[in-house]
Amino acid sequence: MEIEKVHCRIIGSGPAGYTAAIYASRAGLNPVLIQGLQPGGQLTITTEVENYPGYPDGIQGPDMMIHFENQARRMGADIRYGLATKVDFSVRPLRIEIDAEKWIGADAVIISTGASAKWLGLESEQRLNGYGVSACAVCDGFFFKGKEVAIVGAGDTALEEALYLSKICSKVHMIVRRSEMRASKVMQERVVNTPNITMYWNSETDEILGEKKVEAVRISNKLTGEKKVIPVSAFFVAIGHQPNSEIFKEWLDMDEAGYIRTVPGTSRTNIEGVFASGDVQDKVYRQAVTAAGSGCIAALDAERYLSAKGLH
Ligand code: NDP
Repeated sequence: MEIEKVHCRIIGSGPAGYTAAIYASRAGLNPVLIQGLQPGGQLTITTEVENYPGYPDGIQGPDMMIHFENQARRMGADIRYGLATKVDFSVRPLRIEIDAEKWIGADAVIISTGASAKWLGLESEQRLNGYGVSACAVCDGFFFKGKEVAIVGAGDTALEEALYLSKICSKVHMIVRRSEMRASKVMQERVVNTPNITMYWNSETDEILGEKKVEAVRISNKLTGEKKVIPVSAFFVAIGHQPNSEIFKEWLDMDEAGYIRTVPGTSRTNIEGVFASGDVQDKVYRQAVTAAGSGCIAALDAERYLSAKGLH
């Protein structure tokens, strides 16, 4: 079977993937980047980014990702729509299946597939997804302007989204499973001091109620057993993320949560020529700037690998 072969294949289009593409292009590796399901990654569903150096006045996440993409294109990266659906790392060139229909070979592969939102796992959550259930307040909050909404979670993401919703919606009901929050102190202060955010501590979501769309949420207090039905028009889930590493499970070493293991201080995985960068291998820092930095490391590692193998 004749398959297209590329020098350096980058899977994923968040800060890690695009940064890897910029460095790999400038190093003459002619990288081909496949964007995945959500071109631009998680930053395309966020609002203001204030902590990425170089933007003294802040920038909107989607705009920042357009800058990343444009810069990678200008350096010569070949950026394509599509989804990596399978890999075969037992052969050389390494193989990647695209859109479940064609295989591409690559001398080196950089994985930058990021992480995706986690869900509670309730049947009603799945059934009403897109009908008031959402994992992205910034994407969908606007549809519930002036309405009462609920959000579950207690990390920085949940608090950021609760504050965002508090500006659009009449009231935000915040469901927290413990008696304290995980988020940074400054965010906690902002949230508890926002008059239209009501906290429900030690509370679990039992069910999201509604036939065709979200109408209410039923929660129970874990300490008292008290149940409560809160009428809301939307239910936002902000309980963290999981790495997008499913298709590599058979091949790469991972931790129990599915984060790809790399050799400390490098992007090298257990398979020669396969490198990992960004959130798919980082459950600790998970920032745009650290992802970008690790994309740079992956491109430099890939270049060194290809040179050492006489492939570049
Ligand atoms: P986190 O993993 O930090 O937080 C997840 C939250 O969801 C926790 O409070 C957890 O509760 C709660 N949770 C998990 N599962 C359930 C469940 N089944 N039911 C109810 N609650 C649940 O994820 P985030 O996405 O908030 O943040 C990820 C990382 O990104 C963090 O390091 C964060 O600091 C960072 N971040 C930084 C931002 C910034 O600097 N501007 C903005 C957003 C994120 P519990 O606490 O009980 O475990």
